[in-house]
Amino acid sequence: MTVKHHMSINLEGILRNFKGKKITIFQDENGKFVPDSEVRKEIAELQAKGHKLMSCSPDECEGFDPFGGGCPGHPITEENQNYHGK
Ligand SMILES: [Zn+2]
Repeated sequence: MTVKHHMSINLEGILRNFKGKKITIFQDENGKFVPDSEVRKEIAELQAKGHKLMSCSPDECEGFDPFGGGCPGHPITEENQNYHGK
């Protein structure tokens, strides 16, 4: 059995990596890059809620733990193997 893990982003890590730079790595649902100011606002709001991680696939990742656990892992059985394929 395979277990699928989604990627997550460490909020503190990203702020550290992009210190003095613009965070323009996020795209909205239309494929448009989210401006740095909005990304930073979003991150600040998440951190205010105590979140440490942000899921890269929030729509797909059920049971994601933003407080440090991240993706719980999703067992892939033959039945739902194509579930994430869209
Ligand atoms: Zn997941």
